[in-house]
Amino acid sequence: MSLFDSARFRTSAASIAQLPGAGLPEIAFAGRSNAGKSTTINVLTRQGRLAFASKTPGRTQLINFCARARKLPQSTAKNPLREDVGFLVDLPGYGYAKAAQETRAGWSALIGGYLAHRPSLTGIVIVMDARRPFMPADEWLIEFFAERTHVRQLWLINKCDQIKRAERAQVLAAARSRAKALGEHVTVQLFSGLKKEGVEELQTTLLSWIDPEGRLSALETAASAGTP
Ligand code: GDP
Repeated sequence: MSLFDSARFRTSAASIAQLPGAGLPEIAFAGRSNAGKSTTINVLTRQGRLAFASKTPGRTQLINFCARARKLPQSTAKNPLREDVGFLVDLPGYGYAKAAQETRAGWSALIGGYLAHRPSLTGIVIVMDARRPFMPADEWLIEFFAERTHVRQLWLINKCDQIKRAERAQVLAAARSRAKALGEHVTVQLFSGLKKEGVEELQTTLLSWIDPEGRLSALETAASAGTP
């Protein structure tokens, strides 16, 4: 059972003005269209169709996730009340060849504005296809955050089931050495949404971003054990 199992669709937005005010920590997911971003979110949260609104060009969706709030007096064993502890932000995919010019301009305004000005942005997962990682738009994001070291980056090299073992090791080693040169705020891992490989590693990294001291995990463990 992971904290991310509790994820539920909250809202979607076509512009920054429509996003709810910043508050709880946010983890953004970005990636070229078809890199497997929706699959990654669905696998992470163990839900079939949570990430789909972002398939509409230009829309961003907010997904909240919660921790069991065992201290709330109304909470019972049968009906454990939960409080939100953070958001997954499903950004629209980029680099979609068919997207009209104005959709792309809208994308840049929304993504650029969100990424540059959202104080609650804790980290960004950049989902890439292992067969062609680090495409120009991915590089743009990496560059954008290179100096913004307060925002963590995870380079998720997805679809690793599509490349041979030796190539996996090569891709990972090359990405790791780039990440290391940028600093401790950048990490990298191999992933396969299809084969559900690397899910635990992904959960652990994201949890360390929003809960570095392990307080939420302790709360969850106590709640599932029925500790008052
Ligand atoms: P998005 O556009 O980035 O949200 O990509 P989707 O999650 O919709 O995935 C695009 C396509 O890639 C779909 O056909 C998925 O089934 C496929 N896909 C996603 N993850 C993987 C993976 O890890 N391995 C393979 N082989 N295919 C995947």
